[in-house]
Amino acid sequence: MAAVVWLEEVGKDDVAVVGGKGASLGEMINVGVPVPGGFAVTAQAYRDFITRSGIVDGIFDALKVDVHDPAALNGAAEKAKGLVLEAKVPKDIEEAIRGRYREMCDREGEELFVAVRSSATAEDLPDASFAGQQETFLNMRGEDQVFEATRKCWASLYGARAIFYRVDRGFEHEKVNISVTVQKMVDAEKSGVMFSSHPTTGEPEVIIEAAWGLGESVVSGSVSPDHYVVDRKGSRIVSKSIAAKETMIFRDKKTGETVTKKTPQDLREKVVLSDEEILELSAQGDLLERHYGIPQDIEWAYEKGKMFILQSRPITTITKGVKGEDEAAKGSGEVILTGLAASPGVATGEVKVVSGLGDLDKVKEGDILVTVMTEPDMVPAMKRAGAIVTDEGGLTCHAAIVSRELGFPAVVGTKSATKTLSDGMVITVDGGKGKVYEGRLKKAKSVEPTGPAVAFAYKPITATEVKVNVSMPEAAEAAAATLADGVGLLRIEHMILGLGKTPRYYIKAGREDEYVEELVGGVMAVAEAFYPRPVWVRTLDAPTDEFRGMEGGEDEPSEHNPMLGWRGIRRDLEEPDHFRLEMRAFKKLHEMGLTNVGIMLPLVQHVNEFRRAKVLMVEEGLDLEKIDVGIMVETPAAALTIDDFIEDGIDFVSFGTNDLTQYTLAVDRNNENVAGLYSELHPAVLAQIEYVVERCNKAGVATSICGQAGSYPEMAKRLVEIGITSISANIDAVATVRDTVARAEKIIMLRALREDQPPA
Ligand code: PEP
Ligand code: MG
Repeated sequence: MAAVVWLEEVGKDDVAVVGGKGASLGEMINVGVPVPGGFAVTAQAYRDFITRSGIVDGIFDALKVDVHDPAALNGAAEKAKGLVLEAKVPKDIEEAIRGRYREMCDREGEELFVAVRSSATAEDLPDASFAGQQETFLNMRGEDQVFEATRKCWASLYGARAIFYRVDRGFEHEKVNISVTVQKMVDAEKSGVMFSSHPTTGEPEVIIEAAWGLGESVVSGSVSPDHYVVDRKGSRIVSKSIAAKETMIFRDKKTGETVTKKTPQDLREKVVLSDEEILELSAQGDLLERHYGIPQDIEWAYEKGKMFILQSRPITTITKGVKGEDEAAKGSGEVILTGLAASPGVATGEVKVVSGLGDLDKVKEGDILVTVMTEPDMVPAMKRAGAIVTDEGGLTCHAAIVSRELGFPAVVGTKSATKTLSDGMVITVDGGKGKVYEGRLKKAKSVEPTGPAVAFAYKPITATEVKVNVSMPEAAEAAAATLADGVGLLRIEHMILGLGKTPRYYIKAGREDEYVEELVGGVMAVAEAFYPRPVWVRTLDAPTDEFRGMEGGEDEPSEHNPMLGWRGIRRDLEEPDHFRLEMRAFKKLHEMGLTNVGIMLPLVQHVNEFRRAKVLMVEEGLDLEKIDVGIMVETPAAALTIDDFIEDGIDFVSFGTNDLTQYTLAVDRNNENVAGLYSELHPAVLAQIEYVVERCNKAGVATSICGQAGSYPEMAKRLVEIGITSISANIDAVATVRDTVARAEKIIMLRALREDQPPA
């Protein structure tokens, strides 16, 4: 096997040879996609290097440590990386790499800037996303730089996080190899992103966003791009909206570094792409979608008038369950049930009524899961479902949270779904409107939900930070793709409920370490995806009734009213052994370099609780100078005594309006009979928020909201006016909230400006 291969010499079946990245680049070149050319240093070259240089045993011996001991983990990483960085690379391998780079430059007639990227050979296995763990070196030029960057990529296979991840996910170090791709860097005069189909409805509509210079400005959202829509079937431009592109990013010809500069005046409001280019791109989008058989999220660029495709990956946010037109529609299309609009999107499918866990197997891909109320054990079936309809529950119940995060429609609290609907019926669920129709809704596919992917189509910059709520680690990537400014609430109870065993079960069985590792693994997935943006992780807050069905749940007390019962910080302080395990997990995450993890305490009602929690944190070795610790304001008691908390040194507060509303108004948030009285915009709730923000702003303490109300534009607008520091919304609502915040801020500035102006 050769040490280097041209990218065009490999294809999708060559993951073992050139890793996931290399294989997919080769595949694209072979089907005629204009990706920038280059070569790959094969996984075999790496294997030969470590074997022939005699370091192979040294590396794998060094890795035999307890990865849960941070000092040992870091020591192993340093040792293994050191071996790779210092060993002599056999002459033939080194020369193959250098020579291939020279050939590549000869082909293009200049000394090229290239990107040198790691491509782990197990990268694209399902459930094993190694992406981002190994290194990438951009703007390398000259054979010395290319060779050294290749070696650094090899060494990055043994970064501490990469080692931990493989052990955590059960991969043997010896079986994961690394290839390195060396690819020409495109010096783009214009670039951007493209969705080959509408990112939420899946309509055959190509959406293109374009700006001047390199693509980072569009991807990172630092510039408002032009926005074009093309009807893919008719190859017809449907709309063009031209933005004022204030800045652009370009590459310095000498250093290769990227520089942001003001866009020249004559380009600022000029349309970026000609009609021919828009159609050329959309034809490419069409080809990629047909090739992969699934809508694609594509990065593209033009260099010297030539189109390049830089990346193409599946859009994961399209509403599931919308089946093809050819499927026979049954029924009248009349509304047959109404409930709460819990998660946007429209899906048509066959009803499967689930009355117990024994029924879960009957839910097949795209079916509509109908049940009284979902439970954590139902999550695997929920993932297969096209939509969910429940009898019970409010907007913050289990079914609602899971559906929003996993991106499928849900209508909850219909009171009678399990009676009205029966197995085999075909229905259409409109989760954005809270309606269920009999049969297929004639216009179902054109009803436009505000689904998650809209979030990364466009990002205005806001002074008030817009963050995102996450409950399930598997939603981490979709959440990060919203380009939110951080995670304002990571609920760990969904992670724990997913384990099927109560925390007490682990403690009783002496399996505390295992429990801590589960916490570390789950939080890590989110903290990694957002790093360095802050991720506020909330300590456990699960009512006793939610634990009852789990192993160990028989020990849970039976409470008359679990909502007012033994949950949140009050329980953790009474069972400090559990709280200590959570703190151990946070400490580990910080030691692993995930310093963006902050801690948030739920259901606090007296400053004593905050004080006692801090003592436990310090006892567990957390450095409170370095880690942000804050409280949820979700009881009127916490709101009214906020000064005590400020004095005691909280770093931030976050309004848990789901609870604050129920405790202020005496309305059970999960009781559909009183849902009509439940309103986060009630003056009594708003007054508490206003009071807390005012006190915190005076004291320089950050304020945020992580209750469902933060996803409502009306509430977001009010909060900006009140002066909140950040708003954390659900994945599906981030884009809308960001727009609302941007507009509210502009209105405030405009008003201030006008007040300054003397009357004309
Ligand atoms: C809240 O109460 O608003 C909140 C975010 O917490 P949870 O919904 O998990 O109780
Ligand atoms: Mg709460």
